[in-house]
Amino acid sequence: MKTTLTLHMFGQTDVGLSREHNEDCIGWDDKGLVVLADGMGGHNAGEVASKLAVDAITEALNTSIFNQKKVDESVEPVTTAVSEANRVIFEHASTHIQCAGMGTTVVMGLFIGDTCTLAHVGDSRIYRLRDTKLEQLTSDHSLLQEMINEGHMTREEADDVVNKNLITRALGIAPEVEVDVQQQVLQDGDIYLLCSDGLTDLVTDEGISICINESITDIEHATNALVGLANSRGGSDNISVILVKVGAAK
Ligand code: CA
Repeated sequence: MKTTLTLHMFGQTDVGLSREHNEDCIGWDDKGLVVLADGMGGHNAGEVASKLAVDAITEALNTSIFNQKKVDESVEPVTTAVSEANRVIFEHASTHIQCAGMGTTVVMGLFIGDTCTLAHVGDSRIYRLRDTKLEQLTSDHSLLQEMINEGHMTREEADDVVNKNLITRALGIAPEVEVDVQQQVLQDGDIYLLCSDGLTDLVTDEGISICINESITDIEHATNALVGLANSRGGSDNISVILVKVGAAK
């Protein structure tokens, strides 16, 4: 008999210790949708962009996908939803002078049955913890990552670069956007992590892995611990974290 998988999700977004405003935005729906966006453009712009992204994606997928429940048919609606969010933000920026130039990263996951469909634009990330091992599933759309991909720099050298945050793709800055979409088969015990660079700039993958493994039975605690860890290292940016734990139905 096929095992039914259950989802337990929890998220937190925190202003950090040095910014006055939180330009990140998160949203989740226990039915199986998580979205996290890291806006840019300053107060009254970055937070507008990130909220528009979360709202547009949530609205687009709520109406279309949960009724059909066919995993194979998830890639197109997910791509369409992220593209639609891009269009909404670009249009808003074009018609509101205070929002000119705003944009946002996005990472999202749609969990249906035994599969999740993941999408991302920018340098927010998705990781998976499976059998205690953490793996980054997304590749940053950043200048730094492109230099690593093209062999101009090693991962170790990149750790020493001061400005890690120049991104090469974002929602809202052009009429069209290229969206990276992938699908993963879920296993009982998997934990998916979506996060903004406010976490990953301050906490290494090893630090993230230890933190989640220490609180593996309590993802709300793990979420708080990750945010606390970034703040204990200076909290120089807004910090957002969503965890999704996959379990077998009892
Ligand atoms: Ca950020």
